[in-house]
Amino acid sequence: MSEECTHDCSTCGAACASRDKAQQTKEDLRVAGNPSSSVKKVIAVVSGKGGVGKSMVTSMLACAMRRRGGSVAIMDADITGPSIPKAFGVSERAMGVEEGIVPAETRSGIKLMSMNLLLDDPTDPVLWRGPIIGGVIQQFWKEVWWGDVDYLFVDMPPGTGDVPLTVFQSLPVNGIVIVTSPQELVGVIVEKAVKMAEMMGVPVLGVVENMSYFECPDCGKRHFIYGESRLEELAARHGISVTARLPIDPDIARASDAGDIEGIETNMLDAVLESIERA
Ligand code: ADP
Repeated sequence: MSEECTHDCSTCGAACASRDKAQQTKEDLRVAGNPSSSVKKVIAVVSGKGGVGKSMVTSMLACAMRRRGGSVAIMDADITGPSIPKAFGVSERAMGVEEGIVPAETRSGIKLMSMNLLLDDPTDPVLWRGPIIGGVIQQFWKEVWWGDVDYLFVDMPPGTGDVPLTVFQSLPVNGIVIVTSPQELVGVIVEKAVKMAEMMGVPVLGVVENMSYFECPDCGKRHFIYGESRLEELAARHGISVTARLPIDPDIARASDAGDIEGIETNMLDAVLESIERA
């Protein structure tokens, strides 16, 4: 172990006892996946807090990846605030078969599992504490019959509490995408998400600044409603090379409200998709 060990194995290549222990602990806590499924890459989409558009970005990344030809699935791990099924206009209940719970399928063929597909009434609140919620997410991993999937996007619960921690420890996450808003970038909340990934030894594949600006439909001028962006500053500080910006776009809000997120096509997330493909 080097004298300046920060216990961040993601930025250090030394083979030491500390690394072995970290790796061992990580493997010990892993939950075995569904035996009838083969998931090649697990990509977690995280945010510092709720309402920044994490679910919307998860949905758009999944749609764009599907358009590129991959076999794609979404696990809605935001158990107390599930919004993925609505964005895709999916409301059928999930069914169980011998191999496990069958995920729903969206119009374009994205497999989908969410707490809302299990509730009798999707407006029922989920009044569970962290450990129970963590257990449900583990069940989504081991009991859902995902089949052959190239990219499983996990829409994470917001923040850096015990539930996101359970996901990082239980699932073989290949990388994370951080979704943030310009306001969040002013404070420390997004830094916590970046540092959590660093501490878990999971690479940050990209940072998406959502609601970054508004482009006037009449004159095309960009208005930075929340002030100039600090995205590049944050990325540079943490050695993150892939960033993307999405504007405030009434079409996106309309599409996700109407269950038509698959109708939105954009190339603004291409750099992030390429980074995911390389992961
Ligand atoms: P989170 O998952 O972070 O809680 P959501 O993805 O559910 O946030 O987004 C919150 C709301 O903001 C949704 O109604 C969504 O349609 C809207 N929204 C998100 N991003 C945009 C955007 N770029 N332009 C317009 N509306 C957006």
